Amino acid sequence: MGYLEIRVATCSHSQMINITGQVRDIVSESGIMSGVCYIYIPHTTAGITINENADPDVVSDIIYETAKIVPWNNSYKHMEGNSAAHLKASMMGFSQAVFVDDGKLVLGTWQGIFLCEFDGPRNRRVLVKIIEG
Ligand code: ZN
Repeated sequence: MGYLEIRVATCSHSQMINITGQVRDIVSESGIMSGVCYIYIPHTTAGITINENADPDVVSDIIYETAKIVPWNNSYKHMEGNSAAHLKASMMGFSQAVFVDDGKLVLGTWQGIFLCEFDGPRNRRVLVKIIEG
């Protein structure tokens, strides 16, 4: 298999979970010193983003403000009733790419990689692939 998988059981309806440590472990176990690390989520109501990992209020603000921008109840047509989660997941995106240098992820001091859950709790998979180069 050309990628590794991180499994996350989310516990709230909307939450952002810092998965930086698990991605770092995959990079370090790969032994790859230089390349690009892709972090991809194969779901439609959860996304992947990079943002501040230091002050947890940043994550709370993102969850709170996106819920205001995309209210749960609106005149959506999607029968499943979770259009807001689909919209917010697309706002965040479904993948990120981070450089690997000297065997480590090249992240800013305050950056973390987050799984963004918008229709939990659910079991989520995050796929990680590192391309050497
Ligand atoms: Zn749906």
